[in-house]
Amino acid sequence: MTKTARAAVYDEPNSPFVIREFPVRDVNPDEALVRITMSTICRSDIHSYQGHRPNPCPGILGHEIIGVIEQLGAGITHDMRDNPLAIGDRVTWTEFFHHGQSVYRDIHDMPQKSPGLRKYGHDLVGEDPHFLGGFAEYCYILPGTGILKLPDAITDEEATPLNCGAATMISVTEAADIGMGDTVVVQGLGLLGLYGCAIAKARGARLVIGLDSVGQRLAVARKFGADETIDVSSMDDDALVENVRDLCPPDGADIAMEVCGVASVVPIGIRMLRTGGRYVIGGLVNPGSDFKLDGNDILRKWITLKGIHNYHPRHLVQALDFVMTNRDRFPFADIVEAKFSLEEVNEAFAKAADRSVLRAAIVP
Ligand SMILES: [Zn+2]
Repeated sequence: MTKTARAAVYDEPNSPFVIREFPVRDVNPDEALVRITMSTICRSDIHSYQGHRPNPCPGILGHEIIGVIEQLGAGITHDMRDNPLAIGDRVTWTEFFHHGQSVYRDIHDMPQKSPGLRKYGHDLVGEDPHFLGGFAEYCYILPGTGILKLPDAITDEEATPLNCGAATMISVTEAADIGMGDTVVVQGLGLLGLYGCAIAKARGARLVIGLDSVGQRLAVARKFGADETIDVSSMDDDALVENVRDLCPPDGADIAMEVCGVASVVPIGIRMLRTGGRYVIGGLVNPGSDFKLDGNDILRKWITLKGIHNYHPRHLVQALDFVMTNRDRFPFADIVEAKFSLEEVNEAFAKAADRSVLRAAIVP
């Protein structure tokens, strides 16, 4: 096969994307080639675009990707769930890949923290196989990626954010050990927070309290399972803690989850917990996320504090199952609020960056 395909290239932070063509080659036996049908702009793509975190350039951003298999290497026969794979299947896949030796995968069951792990949307576009990001017509799926066939019933809008936001929150809520009858506080109602509210309800939470400073997000969160929402913009910390604790008698919430990327909310969230409560940090992805805690409070209140980064491949399988089981209960398709062509990628990034849309999708 000798042909070329288009990609929106990220030359350097804050400069407009440029559409360029690169060669598409035949796959190696352990690779697949996917024609992208949709990719969505994640907050982390915006962080890279704005230069807040290093990302190789020129490159192709985007890791929330779905598409249709156009070429399948002979070595790939089945997906993670043992469904046979064939050309023409619509698939999602883990946002990261790693193959070879890994103590973290084999001994500690943490494949997502294997040294040398790579992520889609984080490679130089000039190097073979060129297409390893979402904002392009094609993407190669490389060895060590968990591929998952999508059921016909799931829409592209429901399926595209699965491999980042939804799978991450399956991981975070598992770490939080949300159980039947628990009271759960979700700090931040962006995409992670919305999935967090919905998953908490699906896991049996009695009461889910969503916190954010953007009024419109509070209304959306109620559609995703939040029983109570609090606008934190007009409330001092003490009043907020008291408000949440009053909603969770007799002594505060069982669980709180940070998914807003703001370090200063962590000590406030911990104050909302009952003795023996659990706190999970899921959004502090940037270095320098300092906060101050009194270790004696952690000790006396028996607080469990945990950080979660990336997700296990099984969490992507569970994310798909969760959305398929609950798509009549929560409006997952509404998460994608606007669609753009590849040529409109600059406009799409501007809208995603100023938060005027929850998720902007590129349909190449
Ligand atoms: Zn993402």
